Amino acid sequence: MVTIRLHNSRTRAKEVFAPIDAGNVRVYVCGPTVYDRAHLGNARPVVVFDTLFRLLRHVYGPEHVTYVRNFTDVDDKINATALARKEAGAAGTLEQLIAERTEETIRWYHDDMDALGALRPTHEPRATAYVGQMIAMIVDLIARGHAYAKEGHVLFRVRSFAEYGRLSGRSVDDMIAGARVEVAPFKEDPMDFVLWKPSDASLPGWESPWGRGRPGWHIECSAMSLALLGASFDIHGGGIDLQFPHHENEVAQSCCAHPEADFARVWMHNEMLQVEGKKMSKSLGNFFTVRDLLDQGIPGEVIRMVFLGTHYGKPMDWTAEKAAQAEATLRKWRGMVAGVAPSVPSEAVVAALADDLNTAGAIAELHALAATGDAAGLKASAGLMGLLEDHMGGWAEAGVDLAPFAARLAALRAAAMETKDFAPVDAMKAALLAAGVEVRMSKAGVELLPGPGFDVAKLEGLL
Ligand SMILES: [Zn+2]
Repeated sequence: MVTIRLHNSRTRAKEVFAPIDAGNVRVYVCGPTVYDRAHLGNARPVVVFDTLFRLLRHVYGPEHVTYVRNFTDVDDKINATALARKEAGAAGTLEQLIAERTEETIRWYHDDMDALGALRPTHEPRATAYVGQMIAMIVDLIARGHAYAKEGHVLFRVRSFAEYGRLSGRSVDDMIAGARVEVAPFKEDPMDFVLWKPSDASLPGWESPWGRGRPGWHIECSAMSLALLGASFDIHGGGIDLQFPHHENEVAQSCCAHPEADFARVWMHNEMLQVEGKKMSKSLGNFFTVRDLLDQGIPGEVIRMVFLGTHYGKPMDWTAEKAAQAEATLRKWRGMVAGVAPSVPSEAVVAALADDLNTAGAIAELHALAATGDAAGLKASAGLMGLLEDHMGGWAEAGVDLAPFAARLAALRAAAMETKDFAPVDAMKAALLAAGVEVRMSKAGVELLPGPGFDVAKLEGLL
């Protein structure tokens, strides 16, 4: 069997990975708060841990890996967005507007991450479906002396957990000295963090032993990982920006509620993303979403390839030049593998990925395979990394004839001019857009072009 080595943030060392149960390798990754489109930085952990998921599936078998990534659908930003809509005159209760917003955002998230070739995790739990489990864990933490209720809040008593700070390498006293901690009258100690907070009538809330309220963010992941993976599991991942305080707090909650267990044995953190050497920020004007790039015609596969060119443990710099290079390479490789059945992934590519996800090294091995003309090996090896897969290749297919679809759309439009019923035109147009086709309609006629994310399979049944 392939030996996988992973850098464990908890021990700060690269270790041989030995799962608790090779029949069920368990991974948890913190997912998005669903209030808006995912920006490019949000997509990095998705691609990193998708690559890990693919490697584990390859080594242990696809049915022997359980990957959980949550949706945070209770959050003040979601509430604010829904409230703003309500104030702007949108119909429906606040709860309905919140539900609409989260449904819409989850749909966008799936569309955008699918476009990057990310496999869907085994489970994608929504926090709001696990509030009962969160309350149970909080009750348990209070009973064990690790938490206390005050003024409708429940706080975790940080000083009750001697190992607090170990994951991120901070001491509690240093944290207080450098304090960004919030002092509040209901806290015994400024370091204590919120497990539960009260909700007034304008906010979503659940009944609890402490009155109507809602959970803090950190308790979500502890409750959902326990419910879906058990008290001890193999790998916990997320961006390095989550290491403190979010992951530190997850460890405190889970280890205090289940002192007999390990919680996560291996912690993996991906570094952040920059754009053209600068931190991505709205004020610098270099802030963009995955959808922005897709809409500019940059294929999801190209974004994925650029991401994989940098080791997850290093800051990744997104540049237009890298995107252009990745696109040229993928075009060349796609030309090589067209119509070729994949063989098996090369040992060198698997070995690179098994070495703490050395994706840059694995890409170098793909270049080597391409240089020897081993198209079947290239296709299989790239496929292990989520590249050169058939369903991702629409953007590189120049040869699809869209003329019959344009003729059909023109005919529908002509008929609609008579009947004044434009529904069939709109339906066909929507279906073409969903297949990634750019639709240009003018008096001169209908023009169709394969756009970003073009998927020939979705054109089926349109004629
Ligand atoms: Zn989390």
